[in-house]
Amino acid sequence: MKTVSVLGSTGSIGVATLDVVLKNPKRFKIASLAAGKNIRLLASQIELFRPARVSVATSKDAEALRALVGRKRRVEILFGQEGACRVAADKNADIVVAAISGAAGLLPTLAAIEAGKDIALANKETMVMAGSIVRQRAKHKGVKILPVDSEHSAIFQCLNGQPKRLLKRIILTASGGPFLHYPLRDLKNVKLQQALKHPRWKMGRKITIDSATMMNKGLEVIEAKWLFDIDISSIDVLIHPESAVHSMVEFLDGSVIAQMGIPDMRIPIAYALSWPDRIENDLPGLDLAGMKQLTFFQPDMKKFESLQLAYEAGKSEGTAPSVLNAANEIAVSAFLDNTIRFTDISRIVSSVLKRHKPVKQPTLEEILQADCEARKKAADFITSMKKG
Ligand code: NDP
Repeated sequence: MKTVSVLGSTGSIGVATLDVVLKNPKRFKIASLAAGKNIRLLASQIELFRPARVSVATSKDAEALRALVGRKRRVEILFGQEGACRVAADKNADIVVAAISGAAGLLPTLAAIEAGKDIALANKETMVMAGSIVRQRAKHKGVKILPVDSEHSAIFQCLNGQPKRLLKRIILTASGGPFLHYPLRDLKNVKLQQALKHPRWKMGRKITIDSATMMNKGLEVIEAKWLFDIDISSIDVLIHPESAVHSMVEFLDGSVIAQMGIPDMRIPIAYALSWPDRIENDLPGLDLAGMKQLTFFQPDMKKFESLQLAYEAGKSEGTAPSVLNAANEIAVSAFLDNTIRFTDISRIVSSVLKRHKPVKQPTLEEILQADCEARKKAADFITSMKKG
């Protein structure tokens, strides 16, 4: 029996994780949960999973949650970043699922590592911002970082413990998102609802927009660099619209190993939680004959400028990836609020990156400062666009 804490329990990954836990009561039980503002859903999760401790975004949310669950329910209710960090460090957990979205996931994930918990990592922003620090601290604490992202789970499975010296390159596959076949000139007019319609995966709103710009793939390239300790020049991206091959690894002898499956996040989540074991599930299998063909082609870097920007930022080991991520978060949030156009997202990220002077081998404080400054620059840029 493994005891699991979930950071971001009310999100797409969090809910999928709790489904895995619910269907495997002999294997997993819940220690603690952290969420943001979805108090109703968290209240129902408290009823079902009986965590000892939960955390929400603000003290007001904490009060509202207490009113919902009632004084009799014995659950400690915390709030804010400190609350999420205390949930992350819960002494009763064996493994922590890091699934808060965005940069807000970094400090709670580090708190879990500091407390010696294994991490099932969904929050790619943690690795993008502070991959070097996360790796060092995890090594120091003897903590395992098990990937949840389907591409990284695929690579992890393909590598299957083989030594790094045998690895030639990693091939990350990408569905190409909803605008794969749109001409570049039409992208500036696409609407929010179109961008939110991912052809293959059901995910949170932020990552869905990142998939449409392909920034998501760019963040994954940087995540892969740190998770698998491989130079970014040895990480390729291929568009694979069928989303059946979740990623591939090429070894020195030219052998290419691929991992395949249906696009359902419960599979990589269950693998991260049960590794090195596997768990049976009731999901449909992959219908290979029904697929007829599998296609792969290079992404258009001009059309998906965000992917290009991520490759460039990822080459540096300094604060550039953190700035890329922060500017992108602000730009995506503005697009989700219908304040800017789809093509403004990469324009904003590019502009903020150009004006950033990267710090090499930054401390955590320097990373957080770069994140903060980039958010402000991106917000200022958006304000100036509105005026202009
Ligand atoms: P969602 O937007 O669906 O969920 C985000 C979760 O984080 C929610 O529980 C939300 O709480 C919580 N949250 C947000 N901000 C805070 C905060 N400041 N403090 C505490 N909790 C907070 O996102 P996803 O589940 O789609 O993605 C989560 C992470 O996993 C992202 O980093 C994403 O890149 C990664 N990922 C997601 C995949 C997917 O299929 N969805 C695939 C691979 C990786 P609330 O809703 O209550 O406000």
